[in-house]
Amino acid sequence: MNTQEIIKKADENLLHTYNRYPIVFDRGEGVRLYDHDGREYLDFCAGIAVYALGYGNKKYEDALKKQIEKITHISNYYYSEPLADAAEKLTKAAGLDRVFFTNSGAEAVEGAIKAARKYAYLKDNACDHEIIAMEHSFHGRTFGALSVTGNSHYREPFEPMIGNVKFAKFNDYDSVEALVNEKTCAIIMETVQGEGGIYPADREFITKIRKLCDEKDILLILDEIQCGMGRSGSMFAFMQYGVVPDILTTAKAVGCGVPVGAFLMSQKVADASLVPGDHGTTYGGNPLACAAIDTVLDIFEEDKVLENVREVAPYLEQKLKETVEAYDFLKEERGLGLMRAIVFDTDKKKPGDVVKAALSKGLVLITAGTDVIRFLPPLVITKADVDEMAEKLSAALSE
Ligand SMILES: *Cc1c(COP(=O)(O)O)cnc(C)c1O
Repeated sequence: MNTQEIIKKADENLLHTYNRYPIVFDRGEGVRLYDHDGREYLDFCAGIAVYALGYGNKKYEDALKKQIEKITHISNYYYSEPLADAAEKLTKAAGLDRVFFTNSGAEAVEGAIKAARKYAYLKDNACDHEIIAMEHSFHGRTFGALSVTGNSHYREPFEPMIGNVKFAKFNDYDSVEALVNEKTCAIIMETVQGEGGIYPADREFITKIRKLCDEKDILLILDEIQCGMGRSGSMFAFMQYGVVPDILTTAKAVGCGVPVGAFLMSQKVADASLVPGDHGTTYGGNPLACAAIDTVLDIFEEDKVLENVREVAPYLEQKLKETVEAYDFLKEERGLGLMRAIVFDTDKKKPGDVVKAALSKGLVLITAGTDVIRFLPPLVITKADVDEMAEKLSAALSE
């Protein structure tokens, strides 16, 4: 099939929930993608913050192949060695005590919400606990995750949501405190808001929220599905703020291409929340998924991935700042580590048009919020890759 035939066949059969770019990706190598016609693209999207290690990492692929040849799935009524390894490594990497493996980010958020409600339920046997979430947040498309997603455009057609969710303003402590009452069981937020437009939490905000949660025995759920797994320059972004969540969600880069997620918690929460029968999944934590997580965490350590992020991120930041200065329709640059954004004056130029122009120049980018292009490259990029990106970006911005 040629490119047009593949697109036609897909469009005739897929449910139309995405407006896809007319590109058929075929394979990847390092930080580059190749389309069906052999054209090369520099990838600064990484499958939306998934492919942290770049494409074709030999150690990762060999580990998956080896696991496929042994067994890919058992059931959660039994143990496997990859399950034990992945559980130990991920809890250690996050500095938390207990983990539950899921198949996606949204499912990790669902589990986190259930754990928080159960924790509160065991204290007072009440069934009307409240959750405080943030405006402009994104937590996923299933009902629980959607209910705490602070974008009414995503929620409204599917109302009613799960009940008792209130929205505060991100980085506005008073707006959170004003919503707290004796029914509040959890505060959920992204440490760096991703889909909403790349907004890192302020240190003071997150510190005060942690203190508030401690005082009132409210659980702090940090969603690091996008900003976690090394992207910030630390294994998880919260580590840069000197706070620890009660429950953490992760996904995307934790599998680096194998669809997995997880929620983790402190022993305190584990001891007083979910018990056998409360929660489950058929595929979650199967040997293939866990072999992926186990190997990804090994490679992070062996290849010094965090060190690379810390070295290259300031360079990317500087290049993007220079870019912003060079164009009057760009307003600002912001982000944390290798999770960055440039902000557009959308009256003058639309981010979506620039993403399209960049694609035609062999650069993969992605928008966020309403006025932002975000940069989520593989964590193994070099400064030379950043230079190449900046050149292609300038060409796209000049169009
Ligand atoms: C992508 C994302 C999710 C949802 O993850 P899925 O795997 O798509 O279900 C949840 N929270 C954040 C912060 C995300 O970026």
